[in-house]
Amino acid sequence: MTETVRTRVARKVIDVAGIVQGVGFRPFVYRLANECGLTGLIANTPAGVSIEVQGEAEAVERFLERLPKEVPPRTKITVLAPREAELQPETEFRIAPSRMDAAARALISPDVSVCEDCLRELMNPRDRRFRYPFINCTNCGPRFTITRDIPYDRARTSMAKFKMCAACQAEYENPASRRFHAQPNACWDCGPQMGLLAADGALMDAAEPIREAARLLQQGSVVAVKGLGGFHLACDAQNEKAVGKLRERKKRVEKPFAIMVRRVEDAARFCVMDELSKKVMNSFERPIVLLPRRQEARIAGGVAPGNRYLGVFLPYTPLHHLLFQSGKFEALVMTSGNLSEEPIAIDNEEAVRRLNGMADAFLVHDREIVRRCDDSVARVAAGQPQKLRRSRGFVPVPVQLEKEILPVLAVGGELKNTVCVVRGSEAFLSQHVGDLENLEGYRFFEEAVQHLQRILQTEPKVIAHDLHPDYFSTKWAQERTGVELVGVQHHHAHVAACMAENHLDGKVIGIALDGTGYGTDGAIWGGEVLVADYVGFERAGHFEYVPLPGGAAAIHEPWRMAVSYLVKHYGKNVKKLGLPFLAEIDSRKLSVVLQMMEREINSPRTSSCGRLFDAVAALVGLRGVVNFEAQAAIELEMAARDSESEAAYPMDLNLHGATWQIGTKPLFDWLLKDIRQQTSVAEISRKFHNALAIVLVDTAERIRDRTGLNRVCLSGGCFLNTLLLETTIAEMKERVFQVYFHTEVPAGDGGISLGQAVIAGSRVGG
Ligand SMILES: [Zn+2]
Ligand SMILES: [Zn+2]
Ligand SMILES: [Zn+2]
Repeated sequence: MTETVRTRVARKVIDVAGIVQGVGFRPFVYRLANECGLTGLIANTPAGVSIEVQGEAEAVERFLERLPKEVPPRTKITVLAPREAELQPETEFRIAPSRMDAAARALISPDVSVCEDCLRELMNPRDRRFRYPFINCTNCGPRFTITRDIPYDRARTSMAKFKMCAACQAEYENPASRRFHAQPNACWDCGPQMGLLAADGALMDAAEPIREAARLLQQGSVVAVKGLGGFHLACDAQNEKAVGKLRERKKRVEKPFAIMVRRVEDAARFCVMDELSKKVMNSFERPIVLLPRRQEARIAGGVAPGNRYLGVFLPYTPLHHLLFQSGKFEALVMTSGNLSEEPIAIDNEEAVRRLNGMADAFLVHDREIVRRCDDSVARVAAGQPQKLRRSRGFVPVPVQLEKEILPVLAVGGELKNTVCVVRGSEAFLSQHVGDLENLEGYRFFEEAVQHLQRILQTEPKVIAHDLHPDYFSTKWAQERTGVELVGVQHHHAHVAACMAENHLDGKVIGIALDGTGYGTDGAIWGGEVLVADYVGFERAGHFEYVPLPGGAAAIHEPWRMAVSYLVKHYGKNVKKLGLPFLAEIDSRKLSVVLQMMEREINSPRTSSCGRLFDAVAALVGLRGVVNFEAQAAIELEMAARDSESEAAYPMDLNLHGATWQIGTKPLFDWLLKDIRQQTSVAEISRKFHNALAIVLVDTAERIRDRTGLNRVCLSGGCFLNTLLLETTIAEMKERVFQVYFHTEVPAGDGGISLGQAVIAGSRVGG
């Protein structure tokens, strides 16, 4: 070899980590290498992929430059490390067999909604997969929900039992095919098939189960439909009777149902949509998007009673598309197949057993769902897409942390639970696990923990949990042996989650507003202003304490909180105030509540902002009793939307020791006056929202004066209230704070496992 040749030819080895398996990455690299005229190879490794390219140095550089820019849409590269290597005698670029060495760091891709190419084939009568409900390719299809273990290949998924036919196998082996190494590749001849079961689980004689199911839906039946991460209960969303039947059977009172529509244009007919919400709805994650409904929208009233918003999403599996194509309906209710608050059913037999009496028929198939995964929920607020529930489509994509921390398992809270495992600088949140208060939920929790640890090949020796001694997740953590436990205060976790996803380090002013969180003084916190970093926090301010008469009962009956505030500010003779809402309360119940507070029985102290919302909602006569969590607060927010008032009720700020206490006496003085003067609920509610935003900024300002801190993190379930979030952000910006809020993980308790994890990692790691 001459000197000149040696300088011109180069070989590089490039290790790539991230989501590079199951996204069509290898065929892409194969094509790119050929386009650049390079030889070499690519192989899946447990760490991701390893690429070797060889050719003219300039061509190698060109390849390296184009690689990260042109990757397939769902690729997520976290590490891309090229290094020089020795030249090899070779004449072509090839795809080498998977290697099992190196640490298992490859990430499983989330489930991906069916792509345009597959949809075209699905609807093409000349295609061999015409109307085949399991069509997929390397760019789309099930991933997380069918995967038992890593590395991701067919043998470790629930596709293992289906042996590919010759035609599918040929695609699978052809690097030029869209189905090259598409692990769930299948067709009518070799893949999963559909079936229709009657209400009692007996197989029905239906030549075309999907058409038959569509016919049933059209007639007003409730059909359980097996989807990607679990069963949905479906019915025609424009059929009032069908929706009423579903609601009654599911024992779900008033809590809104999500609806699926054929196209984004249909969603725009039912709801007000801007470009950003269209984009979110159309994204490959296909979340349910919360949108303001149009008044004239022809959707059954029972879908979202009294609610101004609709949760709308698009078909994401070929099966959904075929359902819409086969039936004459514009919108389907698609709600999780479960009894309220239990986990979603995934197994055919399990579905028939658990959804017994709820569904008139079951549209099933024989591809097993390995991982339960609910639909994700998103919306646009403060100009940003936000995740209210981060589940199907997003899991298991990690949240990137600013720096590496020790491996930690964080077990989350009690309601809307998620768990989180940190490996290196990546935080992996589980799918939405939900409420742990029932046995099914608790089992799902254990399953989620185990699965996450298995696919990440890590079993952390540090476990972070909430301080609440009675949470199931706390008890579970305390039963582990040979691990280090780190208890994390609930609102500190909220603030840390917000810091982590915004890549903040050092101290911030953290505002965490929610319903309930165990405080370090044993009280129930929920209106907290903290000075916090990843290690610790100081409680710099909070809403003043009031009794929570009856504990959990007060959460279900907001009128109790109204009474609690009235007693605090005006004494126990609340009747003399002559407020209309009192007329609707059973006087025996009222006197029990009054006695409870007087004798301090079952009336823990709380600084909860959620409960303050409840009190105001009850006082103005909106709602004395709720049917689901946060219902009163949601209705109060919706009412405020009808007012443009910029006025705000006054609130107090008093320094107790080093802590600012936010007092509500002036707020209630003015509020009662407004009620007596019959000011509209809209205006009262708006003035209440404005009052909160202003007092929060006032508090932050006092803390800034003392500490010099200028960054504010907003977290906690109350910031799911768009009006409160946007008003607070506007007020903060007005006074030149840097404001951060949630876009990546939920502001509610679905996000706290992330906060727990980063706090524990920082505390133990020093
Ligand atoms: Zn596809
Ligand atoms: Zn086949
Ligand atoms: Zn919370």
